[in-house]
Amino acid sequence: MAAAATVDGSALAGRALAAAGARHMFGVVGIPVTSLASRAAAAGVRFLAFRNEQSAGYAAAAYGFLTGTPGLLLTVSGPGCVHGLAGLSHATANAWPLLMVSGSCDQADAGRGDFQELDQIAATKPFAKLAVKATTIADIPRLVFQALNAAVSGRPGGCYLDIPSDVLHQTIPESEAADLIAAAAAADSAAANPSPPKQNSSIEKAAELLRRAERPLVVIGKGAAYARAEEAIRKLVDTTGIPFLPTPMGKGVVPDSHLLSATAARSLAIGQCDVALVVGARLNWLLHFGEPPKWSKDVKFILVDVCEEEIELRKPHVGIVGDAKRVIELINREIKDDPFCLGRSHPWVEAITKKAKDNVLKMEAQLAKDVVPFNFLTPLRIIRDAILAEGSPAPIVVSEGANTMDVGRAVLVQNEPRTRLDAGTWGTMGVGLGYCIAAAVAEPERLVVAVEGDSGYGFSAMEVETLVRYQLPVVVIVFNNNGVYGGDRRSPDEITGPHKDDPAPTSFVPAAGYHKMMEAFGGKGYLVETPEELKSALSESFHARKPAVINCIIDPYAGAESGRMQHKN
Ligand code: ADP
Repeated sequence: MAAAATVDGSALAGRALAAAGARHMFGVVGIPVTSLASRAAAAGVRFLAFRNEQSAGYAAAAYGFLTGTPGLLLTVSGPGCVHGLAGLSHATANAWPLLMVSGSCDQADAGRGDFQELDQIAATKPFAKLAVKATTIADIPRLVFQALNAAVSGRPGGCYLDIPSDVLHQTIPESEAADLIAAAAAADSAAANPSPPKQNSSIEKAAELLRRAERPLVVIGKGAAYARAEEAIRKLVDTTGIPFLPTPMGKGVVPDSHLLSATAARSLAIGQCDVALVVGARLNWLLHFGEPPKWSKDVKFILVDVCEEEIELRKPHVGIVGDAKRVIELINREIKDDPFCLGRSHPWVEAITKKAKDNVLKMEAQLAKDVVPFNFLTPLRIIRDAILAEGSPAPIVVSEGANTMDVGRAVLVQNEPRTRLDAGTWGTMGVGLGYCIAAAVAEPERLVVAVEGDSGYGFSAMEVETLVRYQLPVVVIVFNNNGVYGGDRRSPDEITGPHKDDPAPTSFVPAAGYHKMMEAFGGKGYLVETPEELKSALSESFHARKPAVINCIIDPYAGAESGRMQHKN
């Protein structure tokens, strides 16, 4: 009699992930998870094999933001798990859903110095909403569903699932595997019933406050982008005529080109608004903690956040706990019964639009110049225009670096939601290439354009090989100014001491051939130093939709130290 077919822990994990709806997984294989990666792929979960877990983790984090489903990160045990902490913590810091799955050492040998031994639950706990371990094969489906669920419920964030190597090798009969997955799926759908926001009185209060405000403002955070609240927020802005200010990754929820955008009048908008409806954004350092001197001391905040603790922490005038899309729809409904619109000639709207227009004109005058050797503005204008010429669906812009990201945020235009990915809440550098890979697989109809400082690029530059291997439509533009902030810019009297012959801590090899790294793997590389060369490289690479690196030489004296954050360095 033939033996009954069996399933091992690796295959069961792959099948459970597929049954839970996972479509992509990012990671690095090795002991003991190589089989898990191929079993998951066989079950329908595409595995994107990276060169380093750190980049794979950043990819999984961005995937969570772009898709609203947890990005999956697979790592090997011990050091692989430690490398993966970068992505796990980054996801949690940004409130993006991610599930990190790591193999770990054999349970019987734990505590005896086993191969790559680490207490991975203890290591991941500080960065994860949930950290669980499968101690036997039968645990796997239940924990997969539980952890995926935890990653997206409440405030999204990173979760961790540990699967020891002995559990990956255990087997159970096929029929039992199918039953376990079905039971886990059934328990999951019974639990998934999000409750609507309860506080009708808060919705009324918020609508009333906006109605009575003299200088209202809508602040749009990346939580609103994550919640896919674009239609509701656009409707609110259009019907009420209230100006809006996006945070960096809230850009595009309402198009940057919208007349009521206060981006170019940011200081005025936050300094003088009397009521601010903040949707899916924390009043943290990025928003100056919602305090004077940047904000008026009398401003009344209406905070909309899925996380109750966030609202308790900030103690706003009105707090509404709930999903941004749902809450703004309710506010729209409330306003509909007694509509109001500030109108173009309202003094507040006029002040904002005038200031924004003046600032845009000033900026455009700077942008119009063709400065060679390149400053930051000239190549960014050329890149902006090339991206805008792509139309819809708009490319996803990935941005990191100090000056490159700071200046890029002001110059590059986002007219569609979730088309900007940057260093985020933690100011994390090294995210770029991972983000690119996630964006390319999550949104295959969009081109991906990364605008990277040379330092940011260097953190994960080896992933250009991954781009070529999967032939992803990603164009990486490296702003090469010889190092961090601009390389070695010391004057001779600053170069003293016993190590004076060492390169400056801020410097890299001058005029490094970053484009040649791409060529080494068979992708396309460009070296550009003039507007014509950059335009031609962008036109060719955007059209080709194949991996490319454009090495864009920037004047090392063009950037400021620490970008716009000198006071913190
Ligand atoms: P930004 O960096 O754009 O200012 P933050 O990361 O500081 O944004 O804030 C995003 C906020 O959005 C977090 O407090 C998070 O809890 C919240 N959030 C996440 N998902 C939702 C959602 N579906 N609805 C409302 N708020 C959300």
